[in-house]
This record gives sequence, structure tokens and C-alpha cells, in this order.
Amino acid sequence: MESQRRVSMRKTYDVIVIGGGSAGYAAARTARDAGTDVAIVDQGPLGGLCILRGCMPTKAILRSAEVAALLRRAKEFGLSPVSTKPDLSAIVDRKDRLVREFADYRIQQLQDPKFTLYQSRAVFLSPHDITVGGVVLSSGSFILATGSRPSEVPIPGLAQAGYFTSDTILDLRTQPDSLIVLGGGAVALELGQFFARLGTKVTILQRGATLLSGMDEDVGRALEAALIEEGIEIVTDAQWLRTTHDATGKTVWVMKDGREQPYVGEEILQALGRQPNIEGLHLDLAGVTVDGGRIVVDGAMRTSQAHIYAVGDVNDVTPIVHLAIQQGEIAAYNATHPGGPVKELDHRLDVEVVFTDPQVAVLGLNEARAKADKIPYLLATYPFADHGKALCLGASQGFVKLLAAPQTGEILGGQIVGPDAGELIHELIAVMYYHGTAADLMRMPHYHPTLAEIVTYPAESIVERLGA
Ligand SMILES: Cc1cc2nc3c(=O)[nH]c(=O)nc-3n(C[C@H](O)[C@H](O)[C@H](O)COP(=O)(O)OP(=O)(O)OC[C@H]3O[C@@H](n4cnc5c(N)ncnc54)[C@H](O)[C@@H]3O)c2cc1C
Repeated sequence: MESQRRVSMRKTYDVIVIGGGSAGYAAARTARDAGTDVAIVDQGPLGGLCILRGCMPTKAILRSAEVAALLRRAKEFGLSPVSTKPDLSAIVDRKDRLVREFADYRIQQLQDPKFTLYQSRAVFLSPHDITVGGVVLSSGSFILATGSRPSEVPIPGLAQAGYFTSDTILDLRTQPDSLIVLGGGAVALELGQFFARLGTKVTILQRGATLLSGMDEDVGRALEAALIEEGIEIVTDAQWLRTTHDATGKTVWVMKDGREQPYVGEEILQALGRQPNIEGLHLDLAGVTVDGGRIVVDGAMRTSQAHIYAVGDVNDVTPIVHLAIQQGEIAAYNATHPGGPVKELDHRLDVEVVFTDPQVAVLGLNEARAKADKIPYLLATYPFADHGKALCLGASQGFVKLLAAPQTGEILGGQIVGPDAGELIHELIAVMYYHGTAADLMRMPHYHPTLAEIVTYPAESIVERLGA
């Protein structure tokens, strides 16, 4: 009887996707469209990081801060001064309404009758079996898409002092008077500027020599200058030592310029990155190799077990949502087309956007990598401060930088710090997608006056030097 029950609780699928966020949903949809029998397992809450605690809630609240910042500049545009008083709780309400809407839509997608959705935690029993809330599921292929969570950092006293992460600060309804932000990446800077624009005194403590340390130095420095102009304190080359706290606030002690210096704030935002969600999955029983907390994958998104793939934040290759989706689609394609040519991720068009103001958008090759890999390139930059439309908009911070192949002028990469950089970069993506050149950028019609016109100036400068 007992063995009969066990047998009746075993189900078999062609593909099982573990995690129903952006990467997992994309994988499940692709596998479904290939005509296979697909199960998705998600422990909930359903919706995924992008919708619940990542891209969408942050962009919703950033809009409130942008509006506040513009209103504060009313006089500059010939309007009577406007006084605005931010209401963080109302901003959070607006964000929650939007997030609910986005999440409801994703949940509907996950409840597609063409999938079987299990709302439970998945644990591997063997390379081909998992257990899900008492049911054993077997499959020929698995796609792991369990995402990430904020990294834990060993700064003495930090846990005792208490701190927010991006996961928790999005629900804060009482605005702190002051905030210490640990980190100088996208999440640190977007949230740091958000609070600063509401009126919180913000100090950003960054370990590296510049903000956005994975990008070219001039990119980080241009953004740093803009944030400092807004009144944000930025401390780079800061080595965190410890945190203390008392009734007056929380103090982060750093080693800076050879001496210990204290930075005091009412609250701390720890924005030092995220780590893959792999604990509890029993990847050892699946025979999947993990190195330094990361699942090792190849370009086809395969783990050390050829039938188990890992996509999205869980593999920590490019924790960005459209790349998580691409990875999910590639893994599902490969899982459902055995024996055929394998699809692999192409990093030529990797792009990253930071939604600060000014925004930052970087695409393809940058100077740091070109130098490190000895890739020859022609370089041209053009500042927004010399661009008519940017001056009309009162948004003249930043620049556009293009890298092109010295013989052909093919665009190899682009970096933009400036107004709407996240939108402008898409013209460069399109040109690079088709292997277009600086001459193509110049020849393509650009309406006047637009921000988009700016790319034609560095393109012209590259064309003048081609083949020299
Ligand atoms: C504050 C912030 C802002 C961001 N802004 C942007 C942005 O503007 N643009 C951008 O491109 N990217 C942004 N990102 C990154 C982006 O959100 C992530 O790269 C992306 O959402 C990761 O998707 P995923 O599918 O890999 O993981 P998730 O969406 O996290 O999905 C993982 C799923 O797995 C489930 N799960 C976990 N463990 C188990 C288990 N054992 N069993 C069953 N289910 C499990 C979870 O419930 C979850 O639903 C941001 C990130 C943060 C933190």
C-alpha cells in the first residue's frame, strides 16, 4: 500500500523549470512552444525579483524622485518656485499598486494550462528526480532559475546595528534623516539618489576608486560629479572596518587616506551585491558542480550535468533581466533540441543601464576591456554640455563615447552618461546588431533637435580618422 502510494505520487515531465521569475518563465514558455510537457516549480511569492523587488518597484519610486527634483528646479525654467513635501508612504503605495498589477499578470502567465505549476520548494533527490511538497517529479531535463538574494557581508557589528537591503528598503514608509549606503553599484546609486532627492542626507561609501567599478573610469567619474552636485556625499577608496550603533545613530568606520574615519547615519543600506540561491536545493545529489557559491555553466547554459541547465541570477553570469530571459530561452531551446546545433549566449551586445539621473548605459566593448585584451579601437566622445537639445532640456551632464574598429569603423561599443541614456543606447544596440559602422550612424536620418542626434558627432569624428 505504502509503495503503491509512493508510485502514484511520482510524475514525469520532459522539462522541469525550478523558479518562475524572468529566466524561469522564459525557459518554460520556450520549452512549451517546442511542444514538450513542462512543469514549473516555484516556492513563491510568485512574480520574480524583477517585478517584486527589482527593476519595476525601483523604477516606480525613482520616478517620484525625478518629479521632485524637476519641481525643485522650477525657477530655472521661469516658473514660480514650487514647494514639494515628499510622502514616502504615498510613494510606496503607488509602487505597491504597480507591482501588484505586474505580478498579477505574471501569475496569470504562470497559470497557463499548458504548464503544470507546483507552488513549493524544490529539492534534488538524484540527477533526474526532485521532491516538491511530498511529490516526486522526474524529468529528462531541468532548468534551474532560482535567482539570488542580497549578499551577506562580514563587516563586524553590521548585523547588530541593523541594516536595510534593496529587498527590505522598498517597504520603508518613514523617511530617514540620513542614510549611509554601502556600495557603489547600480542598486546603491539608484536608491541613494532616490533618498537624497526626497531630502535624506545620503553618504555613499565605495570600496573602489570610482563608482560603477566594472565600467570605464570616466563613466563612474561623470556620474560621481553629478551626484556630488546634488549634495550626495561620496567616499571612494573606503575600506570598511566595522559598524557601531547607539541612540544617536549608526556609525560605519572606514579606513580612508590611511586613517580611521567615522560616517554616521540614521540608517544603513547595504547594497553590496547579491548571491545565487542554491542552498537547500541539494545540488550535490544532482551532481551539479558549484564553485565559490556559483553554479558553473558553459555558453549553452549547461551545468556539469549535461541535462541540467542554470539560468538568470542563479549562475551570476550577467544578473540583468533581459539577459536572464535570453539565457532561459537558450537553455530551453537546447534542452528541447537534443542532438541539434547548440545555441549559445553571445556577449557582443551585452548592455547595462543604471537608472540614476543622469542615466548610465554601457554597451559592448569598453576601453578598459579593449586595453586589457589588446583590442585595437578608435575612440570618440562628445559632451551633452555641447548638445543643443540637452541644453534646451537643462540636462547637460555627461557624454557619449563610441569605440569603433580602426579599419572599418564598425561600432564595437558605446557608453552614455546623460539624459535618457537608457533609451538612447538602443540606437547603438540596433546599429551594432547589424554590424553597422560610424558612417552608418552618420548617414541614418536623425530628427532635429533630439537627444539622439548626439551620437552622430562622435561618429563623424571616427569617420574622419578611419584607416589613418
Ligand atoms: C533593486 C534591484 C533593481 C534591479 N533593477 C534592474 C533593472 O532595472 N534592469 C535589469 O535588467 N535588472 C535589474 N535588476 C536585476 C534583475 O531583477 C534580476 O537579474 C532578475 O530579476 C533575475 O531573474 P531570475 O529569473 O534569475 O530570478 P528571480 O526573478 O529571482 O526568480 C527566482 C524564482 O525562483 C524561486 N525559487 C528560489 N528557490 C527556489 C526553490 N528551491 N524551489 C522553488 N522555487 C525557488 C523564487 O521564488 C523566484 O520566484 C535589479 C535587481 C535589484 C535587486
